[in-house]
Amino acid sequence: MADFRTGLTQWARKRSIWVFHVNAASCNGCDIEILAALTPRYDAERLGVELVPSPRHADVLLVTGTLNPLMRDRLKTVYEQIPEPRHVVAIGACALGGGVMKDCYNVGHGIDSAIPVDLYIPGCPPRPEAIIYGILKLVTGIPDPIITGEANVG
Ligand code: SF4
Repeated sequence: MADFRTGLTQWARKRSIWVFHVNAASCNGCDIEILAALTPRYDAERLGVELVPSPRHADVLLVTGTLNPLMRDRLKTVYEQIPEPRHVVAIGACALGGGVMKDCYNVGHGIDSAIPVDLYIPGCPPRPEAIIYGILKLVTGIPDPIITGEANVG
């Protein structure tokens, strides 16, 4: 039954991936591009990408920003609230490695110094097309489900 549930979850995720967004001290440039990707102009929702208001409902964490010391523990807390198996996408040069703020006294060395990252989308900021492309690459990287066992429909 567990195999069936896992397969069903993977099948659903490939068709409708739910994302939660954290701004870990960005200038808001990347965040505006994420909004553009998710709102009707670029309309990532038509591809099944849905922004959710709670990390507990999300499959994927989208992170922007330089990850200053204040945000480090908060980001880890949000990451741990996302159910397994979870994925993380770092968006923008700041999230990848500090970007233009690199070497400032309060800037981290990328969000992967705090949490594991599955996909990196570079740019300052990346365009909405790049963000959508990255999320879809992540979705297509989820293995095809092998659904075994009996569905309990009784
Ligand atoms: S990568 Fe550029 S646009 Fe994005 S948060 Fe950093 S400075 Fe702003």
